[in-house]
Amino acid sequence: MERSVYFDGWHKGNFCQHPSLPMRSLHMLDDLERLGATMLVWAGLGGGSISLPFLHHEAFGETDVRQQMFGYMNDSQFIAECNRRGIKLFSIVFEVQGWEFPAVIDKKTGRITAINKLAEGQEEQDWYGLREFSQDKYPNAFPTSLKDYYPDGIINSDGEVVTDLFEESAARRLDGTPVHAQWVEMKNHQQICYQTCRNNPVWRDYLKQIIKIMIDAGTPGIQLDEAELPITSIGSGGCFCKDCMKQFTQYVQEQKAAGKLGAEWDSVDVSTFNYKDYLLEHHPSFPHGAPFYRDYWEFQVRAVKRYFSELVDYAKDYARSEYDREVLVSGNFFNLMPCYFPIVPKVDVIITEMEHTQFRQPHFYRYCEGYAQGREVAVAENPYGGMVPDLVNMLNNGKAYDLYRIFLLEASMYGCNMSVPYGGWMGNTIRDAFWPPLDLSAQVQQFLKNNEHYYPRSSQGDICVLYSYKSYYWRETAQGSGGANAMQQFTDLKDITATGWTGDHRRTPFWEVIKTLSDHQVIYDVAMMADGDLREDDFTLEDIARYPMVVLPDCDKLTDSQAAVLLDYASSGGKVVAHGRLAEGTDLLNQLQATGNLIHTQEADSFEAAMANFSQGLLPAYEPLRSVTVSDKNLGVHRFTNEKGTYIHLMNYDYDQAQDKVLPTGAVTVSVKAKGKASVNTLEGAVSDFTVTEQADGLDITLPSVPVYLVIAVEKEG
Ligand SMILES: [Zn+2]
Repeated sequence: MERSVYFDGWHKGNFCQHPSLPMRSLHMLDDLERLGATMLVWAGLGGGSISLPFLHHEAFGETDVRQQMFGYMNDSQFIAECNRRGIKLFSIVFEVQGWEFPAVIDKKTGRITAINKLAEGQEEQDWYGLREFSQDKYPNAFPTSLKDYYPDGIINSDGEVVTDLFEESAARRLDGTPVHAQWVEMKNHQQICYQTCRNNPVWRDYLKQIIKIMIDAGTPGIQLDEAELPITSIGSGGCFCKDCMKQFTQYVQEQKAAGKLGAEWDSVDVSTFNYKDYLLEHHPSFPHGAPFYRDYWEFQVRAVKRYFSELVDYAKDYARSEYDREVLVSGNFFNLMPCYFPIVPKVDVIITEMEHTQFRQPHFYRYCEGYAQGREVAVAENPYGGMVPDLVNMLNNGKAYDLYRIFLLEASMYGCNMSVPYGGWMGNTIRDAFWPPLDLSAQVQQFLKNNEHYYPRSSQGDICVLYSYKSYYWRETAQGSGGANAMQQFTDLKDITATGWTGDHRRTPFWEVIKTLSDHQVIYDVAMMADGDLREDDFTLEDIARYPMVVLPDCDKLTDSQAAVLLDYASSGGKVVAHGRLAEGTDLLNQLQATGNLIHTQEADSFEAAMANFSQGLLPAYEPLRSVTVSDKNLGVHRFTNEKGTYIHLMNYDYDQAQDKVLPTGAVTVSVKAKGKASVNTLEGAVSDFTVTEQADGLDITLPSVPVYLVIAVEKEG
């Protein structure tokens, strides 16, 4: 199991300062060892979005002797120290960021004498960033310069020499203006960050140069942040750059030739079609209500798959050919949105920044675990749209320790891993970084390290919920896409802690069903079914044959092959619970009915009514399959099982704000269908005041009380 750290290292009590991360020092390594860290995310070498010489300086630059006194070092030295300790540092490629900073350059030496806030307003103020790099305006600013990376200059897709990389790479709106990366630009300061477009080959080539420097610096892992670019820019009206337009036209022409365009295209001459010109003439705003938006989005998802894959392949090939080593690659799979699903097979580990971080979201973690398809999942909190600002304030005041324990443990308990904030990002308006008390983090992380066998990855739930990508990718996307979603804010801690659910706000049957299963303490897995188009459909009977029951939440579209698999499954005795629609326009429901193994429940106008229908249909059939029954219905429960034993995890969410702690429960009995020697472990250590009663099919274990979290292990003897 990976134990991840969200290793921004932004300074306590100060603003973040993208894209270059603070210098790393020796004492951080001690902290990482206390945290039992195995991987670091958003962890170093971010400055390539300013210029390649700047990044080279981060990697290999000399450290001022005064800073060395305190153990500071450059990033390649820090990476080497991490490697020695078995900690995998993922260098961060801020793919969608292109920067310009205020700077003062000494006329005689050509060196930078002031940058960013220190340079603002000075008489000699100039700029330093992608533009000056591409113009080779200050070749002496750093030991390397343009000619070291582009001996023949930078050439774009029109065959022109690029004289301004900052403008060349920008994602653009309909009116041609560049899209800003508003979430990282500091308010009331002059630095500028454009969103960039990876569909532009110039930018892709530049990203490869960043990756090359990272691998030269010895990085064991590469994290491609904002992996969905330029979909990132859609919420802000992008991207209509020249390369997106050229490529979309080509895509539309190919779709036309393949007979795949809808009737709405009939009146359009695709041989001369240009989406930007078309919208300017017919619907001069984007994306809301724009014609052909879905075609455009599907084009962009294909582009994400193609170009993300190109960068991954480049990184792997370069590390193999130059250094004969394997480099790990991941991205930022923000909230595990549907646009990333086609690129899952390309990564070694899933790193996801959440959209909303709340205190009770077991269903989200079960979804993540299924989405990752056997890969480890490192989750990072998000300062927007959740409880993080409140939590940080409370921790700063010595409060909310139990809430923080839940925050760290819940992901692990449900099959993922929460990255420990270590100077975690607090957005660009809060003047602070997330530095939870180290002792508190270490208590949890050491528990996870010492009891790794409680979280076996080969485990299997009682039943399986199927996510139909074909049914859901557009439904989920149409509700909003890209980083813009993250700007929603909850303001009241009570709303955030109550259920962690926005209910009818998000009428998506899949999410309603898994939330309801978690509320009923059902032990379930999630499995993904691809659409056969954006991602190859490799779903087979083998994926579900081992489960006695599968649940299909409103899967209105299935591939023919998926329908056949489900029919095979039901014909050989598997129970199919279909909630709402199923493979509309086919006879599948009737065919499943004929097997005698279908339970069909109805959708309804409200979340409550729909889930009442669903629960009524599901529970009578589920109860005989239930492997763990807990007498206290408010506890969170999950079970892992492997050949050595069964591990039941209980989470107590009963946080009392007045007392600022989770209230211990009364006596709780856990009935488990497993036999062996029982032991109980809490964050405080093993406990022995529990009783065990043997039943015909397992054990009843009675605990006098359940604290924030505990694990019951039932292990085979001998
Ligand atoms: Zn573009």
